[in-house]
Amino acid sequence: MKDETIVLHAGHRRDDSTTSVAVPIYQTTSYQFDSTEHASKLFSLQELGNIYTRIMNPTCSVLEERMTKLEGGAAAMALSSGQAASAIAVQNICHAGDNFVSSTDLYGGTWNLFSNTFKEMGIECRFVDPAKPEEFENAIDENTRCIYAETLPNPKLQVFPIGEVAKIGNSHNVPLIVDNTAAPYISKPIQHGANIVVYSTTKYIGGHGVSIGGLIIDGGNFDWAAAGDRFKMLNTPDASYHGAIWTEAAKPLGPIAYILRARVILLRDLGSAMSPFNAFTFIQGLETLPLRMERHCENAKKVAEFLEKNEKVSRVIYPSLMEEEYFSRAKKYLENGFGALLGFELKDGVEAGKKFIDNLKLFYHVANIGDARSLAIHPSSTTHSQLSEKEQLSTGVTPGYVRLSIGIEHIDDILEDLDQALSNS
Ligand code: PLP
Repeated sequence: MKDETIVLHAGHRRDDSTTSVAVPIYQTTSYQFDSTEHASKLFSLQELGNIYTRIMNPTCSVLEERMTKLEGGAAAMALSSGQAASAIAVQNICHAGDNFVSSTDLYGGTWNLFSNTFKEMGIECRFVDPAKPEEFENAIDENTRCIYAETLPNPKLQVFPIGEVAKIGNSHNVPLIVDNTAAPYISKPIQHGANIVVYSTTKYIGGHGVSIGGLIIDGGNFDWAAAGDRFKMLNTPDASYHGAIWTEAAKPLGPIAYILRARVILLRDLGSAMSPFNAFTFIQGLETLPLRMERHCENAKKVAEFLEKNEKVSRVIYPSLMEEEYFSRAKKYLENGFGALLGFELKDGVEAGKKFIDNLKLFYHVANIGDARSLAIHPSSTTHSQLSEKEQLSTGVTPGYVRLSIGIEHIDDILEDLDQALSNS
């Protein structure tokens, strides 16, 4: 099936007991076992089935299956937030005393997690500037467990060299984890060599802005057994699960050792499960994702062209307008449009930026991206303003920078709002 069909049909055609076509909300904590033998088989993973909603739930399973198919992966796991997804994606294979290598171009919340909270947990993050992909190699040593990056990181919006870095990582038996939150449908990191994909479903997957959620998708394309010395947690008996060896336990189920461990160890122990109700809302959003992304991208491109011509704007940051190196990377990795995030620089700096935001009438001023509605934020509204000038510049955000997340409203209304806000700022 093609993407547009997968998001409507994969994982659920009708509910067997009621014939319901819409995916039901299985709002239950528990599932009745047939017998003590049945319960024992489920717990020992001899048979797969529902046990308890903290570990799995049939409504979440439909979302997981649709996203697995959309990404071309092997299996997925839904979580309570995008933050939980990034944390668990790394923690599943990177423990105290280990290190991992991350692109510097990250969402601020992920940056904090990696540089502060993980540090407190004894996990070292080594940051590498993706402008020099070859430097990922220098940062890898025998205790490195993964490389982490975002496909389309804001504010720089320079697409990550997924294939180039996946190749470097895989030559050292190190998998690549990619946060594809800003580019669902338009980019398929697994097809380019990434091994794990992470999402904040809070953004485009939902699109409606009503729920917080996250996902980890296992590409099933990394040989954890062949990299046995690096990944003892997947290749030696796990005391936390009756001595299970995950690469062995997963054999009858498919190449899913990584996500199986994440589910039955970390989701079980840390408890950051997605609620079935939120999964239901994400399923409603996902049904229209391809159509929405097409409109998001079409509108964003028109906004970029409009802003480029405005005399108050000194610079527009959008993948299709970048210098050759980044433009060709964007064409390679963003197959269905250049995304809907866009930055621009006002000639008159920070005060003009604040005025512009305050003048907006249609755009919402919020700390979010990927809503069907158009959104805007100025760094002065966030903790970014508390960074030193040098730190601010290193993030790619300059004083007059404004970030837009372009929605799917009619383009004339979007442009009219931008025009009036600019002329009054
Ligand atoms: N990854 C990216 C790229 C994000 O933009 C965000 C949130 O803004 C997250 C992860 C975290 O997601 P959540 O807010 O769902 O925890």
